Amino acid sequence: MMIDGTSEPRIGVFVCHCGHNIAGTVDVVNVAEMASILPYVVYSTDHMFVCSDNGQQLIKDKIKEYGLNRIVVASCSPRMHEPTFRRVVEEAGLNRYVFEQVNLREHVSWCHMHEKKLATEKAADLVRMAVARASELVSLPVKTVSVTPRTLIVGGGIAGMTAALDIANRGFEVVLVERRGNLGGHLINWTHIYPTGESGADIIEPLEERIRYNPNIAVHTNSVVVDFEGYIGNFVARVRNNLDDSEIVYDIGTVIVATGFEVFKPFGYYGYGESPNVITLAELQELEPKPKLLRPSDGKRVRTMLFISCVGSREPGKYGHEHCSRHCCFAISKAASDLRESMDEVIVVYRSLRTYGKHHEAIHRLARARHVIYSRYLAEMPPVVEVDANKEIVVKWRDILANEELSFRPDLLVLASAMIAPHDINRTGKIFGLSPSADGFFSPEHIKLAPLTTHAAGIMIAGTSQAAKTGAESAIDASGAAAKAVALMARGQVEIESTVPQINSELCSGCRTCVVACPYSAISMEERKGNQIAVVTDAKCHGCGTCAGACPSNAISMLHSTDEQILAMVSAFLNPSLVNRRGYI
Ligand SMILES: Cc1cc2nc3c(=O)[nH]c(=O)nc-3n(C[C@H](O)[C@H](O)[C@H](O)COP(=O)(O)OP(=O)(O)OC[C@H]3O[C@@H](n4cnc5c(N)ncnc54)[C@H](O)[C@@H]3O)c2cc1C
Ligand code: SF4
Ligand code: SF4
Ligand code: SF4
Repeated sequence: MMIDGTSEPRIGVFVCHCGHNIAGTVDVVNVAEMASILPYVVYSTDHMFVCSDNGQQLIKDKIKEYGLNRIVVASCSPRMHEPTFRRVVEEAGLNRYVFEQVNLREHVSWCHMHEKKLATEKAADLVRMAVARASELVSLPVKTVSVTPRTLIVGGGIAGMTAALDIANRGFEVVLVERRGNLGGHLINWTHIYPTGESGADIIEPLEERIRYNPNIAVHTNSVVVDFEGYIGNFVARVRNNLDDSEIVYDIGTVIVATGFEVFKPFGYYGYGESPNVITLAELQELEPKPKLLRPSDGKRVRTMLFISCVGSREPGKYGHEHCSRHCCFAISKAASDLRESMDEVIVVYRSLRTYGKHHEAIHRLARARHVIYSRYLAEMPPVVEVDANKEIVVKWRDILANEELSFRPDLLVLASAMIAPHDINRTGKIFGLSPSADGFFSPEHIKLAPLTTHAAGIMIAGTSQAAKTGAESAIDASGAAAKAVALMARGQVEIESTVPQINSELCSGCRTCVVACPYSAISMEERKGNQIAVVTDAKCHGCGTCAGACPSNAISMLHSTDEQILAMVSAFLNPSLVNRRGYI
């Protein structure tokens, strides 16, 4: 049923308890009663879980019974259940855009749980405003765009390789772009992989062979994406080979960015750079493996080693270094236990030990069983490293469990340095419209609800491009991102939002302010009857409204956030008299 501005509103309101989540703070019964007397409300109720099957059926039944044509659900965040309730109203024959959700959980009960009366008043305000807005809602078309059945994967580490195989094996084409001369990313460098003990090459080489012989995968090594434009389902990417400058242009439907991480070079920490015998855990992998581990300074056999953990990780307030790097506790334990037999002494000076994950605790136990010594330092009192004129190293620290000052002269000092975002992540971000979060890695659409998708529709992130992770976690991510890409391509088309700007060409002066203001490059200029006017590519638009606010000619109105809808909410907020007169709140 299409609802336009002339349809008399018949509004249904459903106020959710969310078990105790909302009802423990907000008097939901009272709020539902208040809503029942608001203009155009013909049905209002409270319900224990509106999102349950039973709650969904109730909405459908009441739409039919009361001829409802606008629905308000006052419950949790729309991020969580807006798609659920939009589907419910559609199944009952209404357009998805005549549904309005109020967030009583995150915006009221969870943040005001010690102020129950005021929280109930705020809930009543929000529901009253939502009802006012709902009375102005109209149906909007549900639009779709086609999806080209080809995925661009940027980065050929374990994440990019896993995603490529997953997608290709489901019958879709993949363009895999890796800037180095070989696939495998960092993992191929590691000689002793936890938890299994094989080398990185043992894992990567079979994958690489399957990729090279897969007819659905075009591999471009020594290559980068130099141009990228378009919108979900319809991107165009220009791939340049850095060796011969040749270029290939591809039509692309979906994208997975798997550009990985960089190992932090910890200059300024623990004597790094002052002695060749102070190296990172990554550099340890490049030395000759046991039993012939030799000192970089003089080639003598290494007999004593000391590892320091959390180097450049977990530093509050330091951009790009606040996070735990999530691999080093295991990697230290693995290296220490592997090398212990050929050493006189191996000491791990750690800040915390985080051996979460399958089989990882066993590596730590093995290291202890092999008499690797673990000694804990306090973040506020990190170890002090002195390097003398002969490049000999002395490490001094306070063991906080024994409450003792200790010192040790290792032949080799190994720093477990942080996994940080690649130095050119902003450049990559600019090409694909992605932005970094506080840890420096790419920001997902939602850290909990949508960790693999981004705010750029059709572009996924996988592996350590999203955060510090282990190899296994990166591969799991990659399969998830691949599944998202396949789901989009298998449908062949994708729905796009109708909550976009409408530009009044009569009022548009062609000033380009909106073109510059739009953070998603969704507006361009077109010539019409000799005049330049602004045109929106709906599939690129995120409905943020920036352009509407910026337009000096008032030529832009936002569908689903029209002036009438917003002013109705403001008016309802400022005029609660109707509710007060009935004395509910
Ligand atoms: C010292 C150390 C030891 C480790 N040991 C283990 C271990 O034993 N077991 C384990 O499970 N994990 C281990 N890890 C973690 C593991 O290395 C990572 O989880 C894994 O490499 C992440 O894979 P990835 O594909 O996300 O990223 P990466 O391995 O970083 O691969 C990313 C790829 O993208 C390419 N790239 C980057 N930017 C671009 C661009 N703009 N265009 C094209 N290509 C680009 C890079 O060249 C690279 O090949 C260790 C990490 C370190 C630092
Ligand atoms: S994994 Fe361990 S060593 Fe690495 S940053 Fe986290 S706590 Fe520190
Ligand atoms: S609403 Fe936002 S994303 Fe859409 S065109 Fe305007 S500024 Fe761009
Ligand atoms: S800002 Fe307004 S007047 Fe200027 S180009 Fe955009 S729509 Fe036209």
